[in-house]
This record gives sequence, C-alpha cells and structure tokens, in this order.
Amino acid sequence: MAESLRGSRLGAVSYENEGGIEFAPRQVIWFACPDGHAFAVPFSVEADLPGTWECRVCGAVAHRSDGTLDDPKATRKVRTPWDMLLERRTLADLETLLTERLDLLRTRGGPGRAGHADHRKTA
Ligand SMILES: [Zn+2]
Repeated sequence: MAESLRGSRLGAVSYENEGGIEFAPRQVIWFACPDGHAFAVPFSVEADLPGTWECRVCGAVAHRSDGTLDDPKATRKVRTPWDMLLERRTLADLETLLTERLDLLRTRGGPGRAGHADHRKTA
C-alpha cells in the first residue's frame, strides 16, 4: 500500500521554488543498507515513517540508521484488558477488592450456590 508512495525521488527535488515559497516542514531520515551504503530521505514531518527503504545504490533493503523498526503501528504494544485495568486501579486496590469479594463469598456461601442451575442435581 505504502509502496506507491515511496517511489518518488524526493531527495533530488528542490523544495523551494524560485518564488521562495516553502513547502511543508520536512525531516530527514537516514538509512543504511547491508553493503554499507548510507543515504538520507526527506519526509514530511507528518508522514508515517517507514523502517526500511530501498538502497539507492544497490537496491537492497536498507534499515533506518536510528534503529527504528518497520511500521511503528505494528510493533506498538497491544493494550490488554489487564493493562487497562491497571490504568484505573493499583495492584493494592485490586488486592483490597479481591479480599472483599472473597470475604463476601465465604460469609454468604457464594452467589446462590444452592439453587444455581450449575449445581442442581440432575438425578
Ligand atoms: Zn546499498
């Protein structure tokens, strides 16, 4: 999908025309290929930055010199329900809640244990 966007030879293009009009702010990202070729590729500061780029000298897959891996979205940590829970409550809170619930279960004998469908005798 992003391949078609990567093809343009941004590096060879001047970003300021003769009228002195500046284009969108850029950042330069350095890439290095396995054969040791290093080159910089300018990106818009708003662009999704790729982790790899085709080497301009030999065509091999070059990786970002700053060590950033491909597609930060793919490597972003997935938030589990447990992570979200820990954002709302501390472990100490959860310990307290657990103790409260266990106490309730012990004093009441559990939620409707006697008449619960799962515990009814089938015979
Ligand atoms: Zn190369």
